[in-house]
Amino acid sequence: MTSSQAWKVPVRHVVTLCIGIILWSGSVDADGASWNYNISGYGSPAYWYMNYSNCGGVMQSPIDINTTIVLYDPWLPVFNITEYSKTDNVTMTLTNKGGHTAEVEFSGTPIYLREGGLPDVYKLVQFHFHWGAQDQRGSEHSIDGYHAPMELHLVHQQAHLENDAKFKEHPFAIAVFGFMFKISTEDNPNFEKLLQYFPKISTAGKTMNGTEIETFKVRDLLPSDEKLYFYRYSGSLTTPECYETVIWSLATQYITISERQINVFRSLYNENHDPLVDDFRPIQALNQRSILTNDIKFMVTAASFNSGQQWTFHKMTHFISFILVFYLFMLY
Ligand SMILES: [Zn+2]
Repeated sequence: MTSSQAWKVPVRHVVTLCIGIILWSGSVDADGASWNYNISGYGSPAYWYMNYSNCGGVMQSPIDINTTIVLYDPWLPVFNITEYSKTDNVTMTLTNKGGHTAEVEFSGTPIYLREGGLPDVYKLVQFHFHWGAQDQRGSEHSIDGYHAPMELHLVHQQAHLENDAKFKEHPFAIAVFGFMFKISTEDNPNFEKLLQYFPKISTAGKTMNGTEIETFKVRDLLPSDEKLYFYRYSGSLTTPECYETVIWSLATQYITISERQINVFRSLYNENHDPLVDDFRPIQALNQRSILTNDIKFMVTAASFNSGQQWTFHKMTHFISFILVFYLFMLY
């Protein structure tokens, strides 16, 4: 090894170390949070996978719901959400969670989500929102490329994993029931039960505990339709660690809220004391996943005849017709 080569080795190590420090410091915010919703920079969604490898997986969320490839599943039942109306001994804690979202966490008597084709009963852990600075964006999922101004996520964990600290890593550990919003000229009076507390959680990290909040029915925040239909697909948490253990159900019916009310969400602040807005992850690739629905409006569509399942059904009907014709021919 010549003397110039001997110098190159330590220089290379120093350069590598410096790049490492730059990458590391760039991904850590002032308060220690290691990710954000910025458009660029090492904490932004495009770089989450560097600190959280799951975020670079092939079953990530959110996705675009392309309704031309949605498959109607007549055996996919709706949820039993009777317990969404429970309030006795249910405690709600409202938090401006790290300046990323407004979140309500549940304790006390559990609220369970049942049926809906889930492999178990699921306990409601928390709900939170994603919203935009403007009405043209804000939701995490999109329908045929269009985003809603806001999206609600009701996050549940599989009941038998309740005491497992690493439950998020188990297959099918989490069930999220999501709802898109539409802007209405009228206020949604049910949302006042929640929005009345927002002035007190305007700064990042602020919390209102169970003694400061009057528990209300989760059911009241949702569309009033008796049956809530949904799109179903397998995906991930939309924030780091991005675990791919989520059974997603995105409601096909919308929640309505007024412009004045969505502006109450926009009046919260993030950890940099900027308005807490645009807290959504960009759309992820669908890859090989299928999207099912139990919404009867998808029962017969032109697109579904292009799908494999419908084609099999088609072939079956042709085959049965053929047998009938053959049988009749033999009779005569
Ligand atoms: Zn969410």
